Parts: sequence; structure tokens; C-alpha cells
Amino acid sequence: MTNIKKGDLVKILSGKDRSETGKVLKVNTKLNMATVEGRNIVFRHRKPKKGGEKGQKLRIPMPMRASRLMVVCPHCKKPARIGHVTDEKGMKRRVCKRCGKNI
Ligand SMILES: [Zn+2]
Repeated sequence: MTNIKKGDLVKILSGKDRSETGKVLKVNTKLNMATVEGRNIVFRHRKPKKGGEKGQKLRIPMPMRASRLMVVCPHCKKPARIGHVTDEKGMKRRVCKRCGKNI
């Protein structure tokens, strides 16, 4: 299980992009992996289709372990631990453990 959702801003805790932040593009809850925009980039080469056309280098963000990521709270702007609370209507909400606000 991961607390991370698509669209979250996250901070990367380890690896080559350590201490960088980025927006989550995709989450795979089964594998506990998340893809972060512009991070964990690999280069793929696309071969030219015709002679004379240049090959392209594509930058592709690869999924990384969600345990390496921490959600940045939009309220206190800091990487925060996420808590789960169920409100009076029975709705599950994510809250920042730092400032207590909904995320
Ligand atoms: Zn907060």
C-alpha cells in the first residue's frame, strides 16, 4: 500500500534524483511503484525512419519504488507523513501529519 496518488507532488528520498521533487504521473498500487515527471529518466533512442532524418533521443521517466518517495504537503510545503482519517460521513481522507490539513 502506498499513500501516494496521481498528481501529488513528491520528494525523492534516495537514488540519483535524491532530494528532487516532481509531480506523480502514474501510480501502480500493486507493485508499489510511482512514476514521477522528469525523474528517474532513461534515454531511449528512436531510429530515423528515412535516410537523412535524425534519430531522436527520448527522455522517459521510469517508475520507482513508492517507499523512496514522500508526499510534499500543499499546505505546509514540506515533505510530510500522511495519515488516514475517517470523517463523520465515513469518508476516508488523507491528512498531513505535520499541519493536520487534508491533502
Ligand atoms: Zn502539511
